[in-house]
Amino acid sequence: KDNILQVKDLHVTFSTYGGTVKAVRGVHLHLKKRETLAIVGESGCGKSVTSNAIMRLIPNPPGKITKGQILFKGTDLTKVSEKKMRSIRGVDISMIFQDPMTALNPTLTIGTQLTEGLRQHHKNISRQNAKEKALEMMEIVEIPNAMERFKQYPHQFSGGMRQRIVIAMALICEPELLIADEPTTALDVTIQAQILELFERIQEKTGISIILITHDLGVVAKIADRIAVMYAGKIVETGTKRDIFYHPQHPYTKGLLHSVPRLDLEGETLEPIEGTPPDLFSPPKGCPFTARCPYAMEVCNKVFPVHTKLTKSHEVNCWLQDERAKQTLAEVAK
Ligand code: SF4
Ligand code: MG
Repeated sequence: KDNILQVKDLHVTFSTYGGTVKAVRGVHLHLKKRETLAIVGESGCGKSVTSNAIMRLIPNPPGKITKGQILFKGTDLTKVSEKKMRSIRGVDISMIFQDPMTALNPTLTIGTQLTEGLRQHHKNISRQNAKEKALEMMEIVEIPNAMERFKQYPHQFSGGMRQRIVIAMALICEPELLIADEPTTALDVTIQAQILELFERIQEKTGISIILITHDLGVVAKIADRIAVMYAGKIVETGTKRDIFYHPQHPYTKGLLHSVPRLDLEGETLEPIEGTPPDLFSPPKGCPFTARCPYAMEVCNKVFPVHTKLTKSHEVNCWLQDERAKQTLAEVAK
């Protein structure tokens, strides 16, 4: 309908000598136009694998999308050819990563790199038009003195400015969806804030939809409309920013919120969540958070909690919120 992206029951595995890692285990997501969805979780929870799967950037082998659908404007990206996918990447869907240097070629001016990106997908565009478009993009990402900067090399830019160039490169073909994987993690805090504000202004100007992958709830608090919390290859809670920050229901979400540094409580020590996520070679049958959860019950260990809809926007996978817990336990015990 009005969803630009809908991910249904996505499963991704990686085969290794040690066995098969079940990195993503039944992820459901949806994203509307002009919306920013943040996928939040610790490293290894499957958030980057999910976003790479959307871009069809899972190296096969060893990786494989074993099940599910990724509907981008109605087209299932798990089914399209690699050739078709190449025409979608960078044009309809773009992705940016943590380290801007890996996305830039140190031997080419940024002007060349910006216009090359455009010319790759628009073979007939004139040199002059490509340059105009590149300068326009530099303006959108707020790089001052675009005319002069156009002729400079990546090393002549600061880290924050380089990330702006990477964003300009990602946006130059006017994609409808931008996936940003830890886009500010390599930057210092002040620059981080500037880049996040830039994302908001870009969204206002272009109407682009954004998926933001991050382990940092501070980043999320700034720009996400909705949040999906991921744990051990599954989404365990989704809601609006308000739902997640003011009414978190999943014990893992609560733990994440507790471990965010709070500026208003200076000197307050953080309480990281104790323990480690489960082994994804043989993930637990039940709730993957059982081993770390202070509220774990018998049923948690045995059966994965299906999602409970708390409000129109807020869903959680936790037996604490599910009145069928007792009945389910009785059924497994039979
Ligand atoms: Fe904790 Fe059980 Fe809820 Fe999992 S389902 S988060 S173990 S209470
Ligand atoms: Mg927004």
